[in-house]
Amino acid sequence: MLRGALLQISESDSVRSAVVKAPMSRAVVARYVAGETVPEAVGSAAELQTTHRMTTIDHLGEDVTDRAQAEHTRDVYVALLDALAEQDLAADGRAEVSVKLSAVGQAIPGDGDAMALEHAREICAAAQRLGTTVTIDMEDHTTTDRTLEAVRALRADFPWVGAVLQSYLHRTEADCRDLAHEGSRIRLCKGAYKEPESVAYQDGTDVDLSYVRCLKVLMAGQGYPMVATHDPRLVEIGSALAKHHDRSADSYEFQMLYGVRDLEQKRIADRGHQMRVYLPFGEDWYGYLVRRLAERPANVRFFLRSLATR
Ligand code: FAD
Repeated sequence: MLRGALLQISESDSVRSAVVKAPMSRAVVARYVAGETVPEAVGSAAELQTTHRMTTIDHLGEDVTDRAQAEHTRDVYVALLDALAEQDLAADGRAEVSVKLSAVGQAIPGDGDAMALEHAREICAAAQRLGTTVTIDMEDHTTTDRTLEAVRALRADFPWVGAVLQSYLHRTEADCRDLAHEGSRIRLCKGAYKEPESVAYQDGTDVDLSYVRCLKVLMAGQGYPMVATHDPRLVEIGSALAKHHDRSADSYEFQMLYGVRDLEQKRIADRGHQMRVYLPFGEDWYGYLVRRLAERPANVRFFLRSLATR
């Protein structure tokens, strides 16, 4: 209930403005966001590689309605990829990028889908040139079909493009079946948006059970599952399923968010699994931060205090 309420009030402009200006927010932001600039993001990726953790880097910002902003985001991604390659961090996909289509134009009325696809294509071309990969993040359910369609179009030229599926959606087990084919990189997560009962499980146990069903399909298939969760039971189940299907260590990976369960990330990497950290950076951290707070009730007091100290 708290999660839903938080996601709901976060849509208010006055709440956004209060939180962004509050000094207390900065401390919470620093936990989940690796700085505001490309050099800061590259520095964090380098640091994580010292403990054998790969990264997928997200330039924060979503629901962009301005063409110039969408173009700017594309340019930041290309500059980021160049900077990763310069530091020899990108090769073999060790540091890749995650892109939200709404950050590169999908939400712009009229030709938004075509613009987002073109921008994503340019980011993929840069990634290919530098020997790394791109994963297209999944946003709320109103964009699922269009986002999967864009992934299909991108894969025609860049077969390594990753897609994301969310276990809270009723449709996802079927999507897993469709996408568990050879070479298909699929990140499975629970899902971070407030979704209606008509399309999504509302109860945490149902979301978890769906996650396990989806994981079974992906691990039994021919694709490359990316198990994105901090849930210890699901990590164990992912590991057991990989073993059951005789998967080699390089045929799947675990993923967690920057700032969440850091010790567990290192432990998973030390056990010989591939571990990738989702590393967000940039100035537009508000939407991302609220979703992280909503997942962790203990963090909400920071959020409320940040409003009170204004
Ligand atoms: P939960 O049941 O939420 O958490 C399990 C345990 O993990 C908690 O008990 C707690 O100990 C710890 N934990 C979880 N979250 C936090 C937190 N914020 N702070 C501190 N501890 C925490 N969602 C999308 O909708 N689209 C995407 O494209 C997407 N990409 C993602 C990429 C990665 C690599 C990851 C890890 C998640 C992504 N998500 C995405 C978010 C995801 O959908 C969930 O909202 C989020 O991961 C929390 O779910 P959980 O599986 O960790 O389980």
